[in-house]
Amino acid sequence: MRRIAVLGSTGSIGTQALDVIRSHREEYEVVALAAARNGDLLRAQAEEFSVPLSSARLCADSPEVLTELASGSDVDVVLNAVVGFAGLPATLAALEHGKRLALANKESLIAGGPVVAAARDRGTGEIVPVDSEHSALYQCLRAGTRPEVRRLILTASGGPFRGFSRDQLAGVTVADALRHPTWDMGAKITIDSSTLMNKGLEVIEAHELFDVTFDQIEVVVHPQSIVHSMVEFVDGATIAQLSMPDMRLPIGLALGAPARLPEAFGAIDWTEVGQLTFETPDLGAFPCLRLAFEAGRAGGGAPAVLSGANEVAVAAFLEGRIAWTAIASVVAEVLEGGTGNVREVADVLEADRVARQRATIAVDRLARAA
Ligand code: MG
Repeated sequence: MRRIAVLGSTGSIGTQALDVIRSHREEYEVVALAAARNGDLLRAQAEEFSVPLSSARLCADSPEVLTELASGSDVDVVLNAVVGFAGLPATLAALEHGKRLALANKESLIAGGPVVAAARDRGTGEIVPVDSEHSALYQCLRAGTRPEVRRLILTASGGPFRGFSRDQLAGVTVADALRHPTWDMGAKITIDSSTLMNKGLEVIEAHELFDVTFDQIEVVVHPQSIVHSMVEFVDGATIAQLSMPDMRLPIGLALGAPARLPEAFGAIDWTEVGQLTFETPDLGAFPCLRLAFEAGRAGGGAPAVLSGANEVAVAAFLEGRIAWTAIASVVAEVLEGGTGNVREVADVLEADRVARQRATIAVDRLARAA
């Protein structure tokens, strides 16, 4: 029996995780739940999975509560599905306390890269990715040894604006950006998918998770979202992981790995699948992907600054305060302001704080000018 803490239980990943656990109650027990909002759903979840109310917390992303729940002695697996940078305390606590971290919160790994790596080295914890691309890479990497890996190829759906020109992108609305063609996800990640920032963050995530250089990571646009990523080995062989877009597959694998769930999510019907196509991302129209590569290569505090500035810009876009194209402008401007280094948690928090402050100033200026 694996005992699971589901942090971010009322969001898209959290509810799908409980959906997986619901049909495998003899293997998994939910021992803790945390949600930033939606107390009614949280209470219903606690009742259904018999989680005591003291361990089902409506906590508004409180670092203390997330740390407490992630480090509980009765927890084997921490599913971190908190949204954004607020997930960092749970990531660190889980690793330091020797838990399996089923990681859906990419921002904590990206912003806190060196600090998270140190926590991973210090403790006996491990990270198993929930992100579909990284779950795919995790699976493909089983096909060879590490020195045999030549490249990781991350696939991107391209989002709702694939093929749009810069002029077309200047006029897109919040509703347009929230209409993702293949995945049904939360608002923040859906906007990130529309700008390709999500893919940029995933490039940095892949670098952190699999210890590869940025020159070894490539992004290819694959609109069908059936090939979830690929690994190319030194002999030229490429191994890909394919399934229909269904997050319950990577969630189930992260909870049970190395074992696979005996229940098929996203199995492909080859009579229906049609064509699989691949194209090069347009970095001119989607500069966020380029910014992420640059921040990843710069290292230090740059990924934290990138991610923090992006969170502020995305929130401002969702509130209708800035244009979609301004998201990249804000992030670029904040990165140009300098990024510093990151050695301990305090440095990560400071990089994030400064990034948000600068991004807020940039957003206010753009909103006034609009
Ligand atoms: Mg992903």
